[in-house]
Amino acid sequence: GDSYVNPARQMAHGGVYDGADSEMCYEWSREVCSVLRDAFKLPGFRHNQLEAINATLSGKDVFVLMPTGGGKSLCYQLPALVYGGKTKGTTIVISPLISLMQDQVEHLLEKGIKAAMVSSRGDANERRNTFQQLKSGDLSLLYVSPEMLTTNSQLRNVISSLYQRSCLARIVIDEAHCVSSWGHDFRPDYKQLGQFKEDFPNVPLMALTATANERVRLDVVFNLKITGCALFTQSFNRPNLYYEVRDKQRDVLAEIKELMKVKYPGKSGIIYCHSKNSCEDTATKLNRLGLKVTFYHAGMDPEERLQVQVGWQEGRYQAICATVAFGMGIDKADVRFVIHYTLPRNLEGYYQETGRAGRDGLPSECILYYAYRDATSIMTMIDRDRDIDYDTKEKQRTFLKQVLQYCENQTDCRRHQVLQYFNEKFDSKDCHNQCDNCRIAAVCEFETRDITEVTKDIIRTILSIQDDNVTMLYCMDVFRGAKTAKIQGAGHNNVPGYAAGKDVDRTDMERIFHHLVAQSILKESAVVNRSGYATSYLRVGSRGVGLLSGTEKMSLTFLKNGAAKKTKPPSKPVYAASNSAPKPKATRSTKTSSRTNKPRFGIANG
Ligand code: ADP
Ligand code: MG
Ligand code: ZN
Repeated sequence: GDSYVNPARQMAHGGVYDGADSEMCYEWSREVCSVLRDAFKLPGFRHNQLEAINATLSGKDVFVLMPTGGGKSLCYQLPALVYGGKTKGTTIVISPLISLMQDQVEHLLEKGIKAAMVSSRGDANERRNTFQQLKSGDLSLLYVSPEMLTTNSQLRNVISSLYQRSCLARIVIDEAHCVSSWGHDFRPDYKQLGQFKEDFPNVPLMALTATANERVRLDVVFNLKITGCALFTQSFNRPNLYYEVRDKQRDVLAEIKELMKVKYPGKSGIIYCHSKNSCEDTATKLNRLGLKVTFYHAGMDPEERLQVQVGWQEGRYQAICATVAFGMGIDKADVRFVIHYTLPRNLEGYYQETGRAGRDGLPSECILYYAYRDATSIMTMIDRDRDIDYDTKEKQRTFLKQVLQYCENQTDCRRHQVLQYFNEKFDSKDCHNQCDNCRIAAVCEFETRDITEVTKDIIRTILSIQDDNVTMLYCMDVFRGAKTAKIQGAGHNNVPGYAAGKDVDRTDMERIFHHLVAQSILKESAVVNRSGYATSYLRVGSRGVGLLSGTEKMSLTFLKNGAAKKTKPPSKPVYAASNSAPKPKATRSTKTSSRTNKPRFGIANG
């Protein structure tokens, strides 16, 4: 394409990189340039591509961290065609998804580059052919799935024989975060890949991922045994994406329709849903609203999925309702919106999914619809999952709480929040109001309030009723002093904490409860009854019990009375006062605002 002249794209990817002088003085530099031009038909390098290429051609192990769409493939595809480097022969690429491999091999063949793949798909004949080509040194690149390496000894033998004949140029581990059990997308077969460095110590290895989490990175380096590798990393900020978390109470489908029909007519998007059913259901509903939408999930057969994917890529469907299985390796540059219809399970995956928007560098938006109840149901699914062990459950709960914190945080820049999770410092000034929180902060004022006393009240209330298995909603009712028959029947209107929160604004109370769960002060856990239904009950977590007697303080940021900047500050909110003091009537009516009465803005690039 001709996207190089597009300044927006240059911003997104650090511009076209012509190569600093020092990166152009290798004996293979001339060859690298001609391969770039003649085989890949590209006029220049993007950030870190040439550096990574030079490092691997020097025989070093390399770790490339680049956001989705940054151009990781070129970092190993180009050196596979360079003969002047310190490496010769075939490049082996390990990749987790067959569809992804297929896509890449096709693209390479189109360019006249000799590439093939070995996966569980494909018949014996094809495989024999591929092995023949491989043995005769005819292939520049061979893509294999990690499962194949584990199960197919013939494949391992061929690779070993290449090695013995010094015809194994390098090993590439794409989507390398799959190595780490700390990643969100762990594949057991990836763990074995550490064997490469042991078997072929002097074959350079290259690991690539868009996951920047430091713990994952360390894990990958350790597992692949490439300590001392050259690391190429960059900011994960995507300046052309607008981030927003929306309250799911609203008419979501109508909003999506508006977005698709009015804001992005004829433009493409992805709508992430949490289950197969929800994908189909959402697609059907949107179709009824007159939109061209289809669905994609793991329950469909490969043919069907391919058809849907191509239909979307070619614009026959405007949007695709998909599970997170969709998108990895799909190269569509002009995705204008990515919507999360339900809460994502972890921030890492969320960021990668949103990263599929705006690869062309043009303004695009990422909307997450948040309802606390979605977190509860995911928590229940985790609790009930029989296929995962305790540690994995704990890990998934932690991931989910991080998402919860992100959604409940209505003040800090979204970029700052996510990038912090990736250990990247981001100054919210550089967001340029391209997230909901920054936009609101530009016109409204916030204040941090001490919620220690109200937190203690909540803890006391819950402690006095939790042994009766109570839900969060029920706890809120007792805390507010509701007079329902159920509460009276259970005698919960006589417990110490009953009505302790009668003066707390309802929306504020909900936010505080959610915040306390995200902070592990309170804990929701599922109990399955005899008929197989799970209910989530609320309890005080160990940190909560400690808080009651200790000196720890809790605070939370609130929007100042929904007021625009420079207006009169609101009167003092009730729960900043000590809970023992009688509350004057005047403050009772003080409405502290929350997301529901935030001013609404036109979104993205308004
Ligand atoms: P990643 O694996 O990092 O998500 P890809 O390797 O799939 O990204 O590349 C994303 C897109 O960027 C592809 O369309 C690719 O052709 C394009 N691309 C890669 N490198 C360059 C470059 N130097 N100049 C222009 N386009 C590039
Ligand atoms: Mg890739
Ligand atoms: Zn921001």
